[in-house]
Amino acid sequence: MKLDIRTYGDPILRQPAVPVEHVTDELRALAKNMIAAMRAENGVGLAAEQVGRRAAVIVVELPLDYDTAEEGGPRLHPDIEMPWVLFNPEILSASAEQEIAIEGCLSFPDITTPVARSVEITLRYKDLNGRTHERVLRKFLARVVQHELDHLRGVLLVDRMSAVKKIALRGQLKRLKQETEDALGLG
Ligand SMILES: [Zn+2]
Repeated sequence: MKLDIRTYGDPILRQPAVPVEHVTDELRALAKNMIAAMRAENGVGLAAEQVGRRAAVIVVELPLDYDTAEEGGPRLHPDIEMPWVLFNPEILSASAEQEIAIEGCLSFPDITTPVARSVEITLRYKDLNGRTHERVLRKFLARVVQHELDHLRGVLLVDRMSAVKKIALRGQLKRLKQETEDALGLG
């Protein structure tokens, strides 16, 4: 089944996700369809709410040369196979040290903004087999997972923008929200 990406203005993006009790075949199928939707839009991560579902699941797929501390360096997480599926991901700790980088979001087409994120996080999640893992993530992979975890709490890119950036993008954001609401028959 092809899943459509929900855009800013769709109320589901503001809903908190519901934790998954058991990793069922249905949820595995959802994750598979989410991976297809993410790839179709050249994304590096996607949360279930972005395809209109409230299960706490995210998918991540970085080009392997992005998973490095510096350009051309070795992979930071060589044991993580991409695409990566995480159920009930939660951050157990996050480094005080942060980095600022430009982020985009499939729910905000053509909009980017600098966002500060922790450089390192410790994460707990369930894999496709329902097994629980805890592990440390660093740099870009940590950033992508923090972005997707925001989605699971109903927090969006627009909430991470500086006041100045928000003002600069006000027209564009308003237009996107209006288009989404019109398409949904809201507003
Ligand atoms: Zn996003």
